[in-house]
Amino acid sequence: MKVAIETLNEEPFRVQEDIVAQDWGMDSFDIKFIDTLSVTADFTRIKKDIYVQTEVISKRIIVCSRCMDKVKQTVRQNFHFHFDRSGLRDTLEMDNAIREEILLHFPMKVLCKTDCKGLCTVCGSNLNHSRCDCQKAIHRDLSSSVTAGRFQEAEGDTESQILEREYIEE
Ligand SMILES: [Zn+2]
Ligand SMILES: [Zn+2]
Repeated sequence: MKVAIETLNEEPFRVQEDIVAQDWGMDSFDIKFIDTLSVTADFTRIKKDIYVQTEVISKRIIVCSRCMDKVKQTVRQNFHFHFDRSGLRDTLEMDNAIREEILLHFPMKVLCKTDCKGLCTVCGSNLNHSRCDCQKAIHRDLSSSVTAGRFQEAEGDTESQILEREYIEE
């Protein structure tokens, strides 16, 4: 994405471009970019200052670090840039700057969704898709050994629910 600096002024100048994701070579072992990156940028120039507001929509296939599922995600990101006119030539080339921002904002831990339940540590089943009884069994063990009293109380409440209370005056 390239713009001629002399054409920029205080009115935002919008440029939209679809970039073949593979051309930017950003894939890592757990993130693979597919299709195109949709980049929309608004360029504004106020004297020597150039401001660029960008919105990048990318499609990625990720491998969740918690449950190992492969998931296709569409991600929207907004990046803001400021350039000093004096450090530039006649054109402003945005590709490298945007690419770097995307790489900088790679998640430390790639997740299929923020509340991914992960894999059962006992039987290995994916807890997002299926339920197993292993965790229940562990919970029961923990509850009975650590907070035996409270656990029994809670169990009593659920099993015998009091629907009405009537006080009898003598
Ligand atoms: Zn996951
Ligand atoms: Zn399990």
